[in-house]
Amino acid sequence: MSSETEQTVFLSDYSPSPYAIEKVELEVEIAPEVARVHAWLTISPREGTAPGTPLVLDGDELMLDSIALDGAPLVLSAYASTPRALTLIEPPARRFVLETSVKLAPEKNLRLMGLYRSNGTWCTQCEPEGFRRITYFLDRPDNLAVYRVKMIADAALAPVLLANGNLVEQGDAGNGRHFAVWDDPFPKPSYLFAMVAGDLGSIHDEFTTMNGRKVALGIYCAHGKEDQCLYAMDSLKRAMAWDERRFGREYDLDVFNIVAVSDFNFGAMENKGLNIFNDKLVFAKPETATDADYANIERVIAHEYFHNWTGDRITCRDWFQLCLKEGLTVFRDQEFSSDERSRPVKRIEDVRVLRAAQFPEDAGPLAHPPRPDHYKEINNFYTTTVYEKGAEVVRMLATLLGEAGFRKGMDLYFERHDGEATTIEAFIKCFEDANGRDLRQFQQWYLQAGTPRLAVTENYDAGTKRYTLDFTQTNPPTPGQPEKQPMVIPVKFGLVGPNGAPATWTGVSGGNVADDLIVLDGASARITFEGVANRPVPSLLRGFSAPINLETNLSEADQLFLARHDSDPFNRWQALQEIATALLTRAARGMNWTGESVAALAAALAETVAAPGLDDAFKANVLGLPTEANIARVLASDVDPDAIHRVRVQLIEEIARQIAGALQAAYAAGSVDGAYSPDAAQAGKRALRQAALAFLVRGGVGGAAEIAARQYQAATNMSDRFGALAAIAANWTADAPALLADFRTRYGEDPLVFDKWLALSASPADDGALERVRAILAAPDFPRNNPNRLRALVGSFASGNPVQFARADGAGFRFVADFVADVDKRNPQVASRVLTAFRTFRTYEPVRRAAAEAALKNLADAGGLSRNVADILERTLSG
Ligand SMILES: [Zn+2]
Repeated sequence: MSSETEQTVFLSDYSPSPYAIEKVELEVEIAPEVARVHAWLTISPREGTAPGTPLVLDGDELMLDSIALDGAPLVLSAYASTPRALTLIEPPARRFVLETSVKLAPEKNLRLMGLYRSNGTWCTQCEPEGFRRITYFLDRPDNLAVYRVKMIADAALAPVLLANGNLVEQGDAGNGRHFAVWDDPFPKPSYLFAMVAGDLGSIHDEFTTMNGRKVALGIYCAHGKEDQCLYAMDSLKRAMAWDERRFGREYDLDVFNIVAVSDFNFGAMENKGLNIFNDKLVFAKPETATDADYANIERVIAHEYFHNWTGDRITCRDWFQLCLKEGLTVFRDQEFSSDERSRPVKRIEDVRVLRAAQFPEDAGPLAHPPRPDHYKEINNFYTTTVYEKGAEVVRMLATLLGEAGFRKGMDLYFERHDGEATTIEAFIKCFEDANGRDLRQFQQWYLQAGTPRLAVTENYDAGTKRYTLDFTQTNPPTPGQPEKQPMVIPVKFGLVGPNGAPATWTGVSGGNVADDLIVLDGASARITFEGVANRPVPSLLRGFSAPINLETNLSEADQLFLARHDSDPFNRWQALQEIATALLTRAARGMNWTGESVAALAAALAETVAAPGLDDAFKANVLGLPTEANIARVLASDVDPDAIHRVRVQLIEEIARQIAGALQAAYAAGSVDGAYSPDAAQAGKRALRQAALAFLVRGGVGGAAEIAARQYQAATNMSDRFGALAAIAANWTADAPALLADFRTRYGEDPLVFDKWLALSASPADDGALERVRAILAAPDFPRNNPNRLRALVGSFASGNPVQFARADGAGFRFVADFVADVDKRNPQVASRVLTAFRTFRTYEPVRRAAAEAALKNLADAGGLSRNVADILERTLSG
């Protein structure tokens, strides 16, 4: 890879391929060490293609065994083949069938792209460019073809043979082998191709669609894990029903299969009719999975299923449009979880993720628009900007158009573009046409990178009873985009009167205000409310109605008022976060907080936790003070992770001392009677209990560590046990190592629990963390090629342990850079993902900044890097 010329791909260079592959027939013979792929591709020149135009098919590490055209072998001068391309010099100017065969070595495929073997099971991953590692092809999303796949394998080694579509034939293939033929009638791009062969267990169920069609559902997994797939199956059926109810989308094939594999670069993959999942997003039982694991499984099972319409039936024209399917489908899975669980809690959790992961990306050297216009390595654009910010953009569209208007646009999108590979522009056009709206300026959200800042000053004139809000929008520069247009920002709002009830007004002017929505579309605006009896407190950006940084001139007293009285739960949570963030950022800069401020925050927390009528999961979120990473993000420069860690612990200690009684009461009230269930109400109870315990332990309240240790020992489910252990590990108290060791042995060889142990070993801020991680990684039996294990250990250290990753002596940086160089040789995708932990290195204080830069330059100097890592490294260093 290193000798390859670094080629940048530009959106503006897009043009359709001169030829189209319309039909694909594959015969795949699978045996240990080798797989033979025979392909018959029905190809036509597109209209306007000049006769004699060469046909160039993509390949990646392929070796051509044979080639024929319409059944006749081709002479050597008629084609050229390399591992990366197959060129027909002068193809016929009519429809023809190209026949090729190649041999693959799945066992040697450690990149986990194309066909590979995971724990004995043969499986595929083709998004974005893996199909070219299976056969020579027009491996681009705008080539839609129908597929028919015959798989042949040893009946004992691989009794299960699965591919996309419907099973149409199966039987004996001689010599102890058998075959299966799968036919997918829906034209699809090659990245949605999938195939699985192996000796797998399975569970089966059935779903009847809204029009009465029966769909056979199957989940395949390693033998003995079948009982751990039941929640995934339940989630799938709920997701299928929800998509019918909410979006009118019905499933289209006779079968829907899911396969859980243990070596997987991503979370899961939406291949048509055959989703392939990282097993951690399928397997769950109360003894080994936490409530968060269950919620994640539900979410991702739904996400991949929803892709059947937003991704598979309507796909992307090119990879620049990735957020067309991802942003939209994340929005859909967020809505599903909101409907199945608590909407405000889901919103808070999503915004936490957005601020922790996407905002730093948007503020640093890796910033890019949700719809980028150039890339060197598309694998590096599976980012939180494309996924989570992409979902925020769709959410704003829904806010601006209202639920009915949004649904009209979606209906038109499904009707107009079914069976197509399309673009963001075409998507937006559906909402314009369905609603008679001009959304050209709104489209900037897809084109401009960076998080907009919205400053608001409020003013009340008691004499005229006039209340004004002055908004100023700024869009900070990002790489390649020094200047920006103002964005369309939907600000959901309310004015809260002195008694906590909504304030009223007799007139409003100066901007686009309707009901509870202000729509800003210029650099600044002054909104004036007439006839406001008393000074209200504004509750702005309710439900986080836009992915922006809001800066207000509200006082601490105003925030406390909102925390108590706002009818919008998100803003109640946000108000307390604002107060804590202000205290922590000032303290991290060496300015002391006042006792009154801390006491007021502590009292508000205690009051919220005790308040009747609020969701337990909501209260748990209220107790989650801003993370160290979040404080670093707000500080934005001269960041000293030690100082942040220190003041955050101090604040927790002070608050815990003051409201220990309230926290202990919340802990006691949160105990669950009866059998474990992962439902939202029970999970919420456990979450609140857990948040209270973590607060008490972290705050050093007498006896809290002992309570945690007892809970650890007595727990009957993983949520309670893991929660207690996490509270102890975070503090790295004297008994932490012994309890972690107990946890390691208690669950034997369960790999998913092992990942939890790895993460808990890597995240504590104690000075021994780096040595601990180093020793675990160096153990001879550590599974060095499994992405889950590597991410759990080194990913947790690099992205979840800001103090030790950013040690002032640079040892943490050097360790992670060395790890990236090593893993890059086998799995560039995992390596480049871990490397992104350096994306905010320029915000550190000078000593750490220099140490991080030295580690990165050292990595660059070593050379021999994959395109994935080289691209991230170059952008990180130049930003
Ligand atoms: Zn997706």
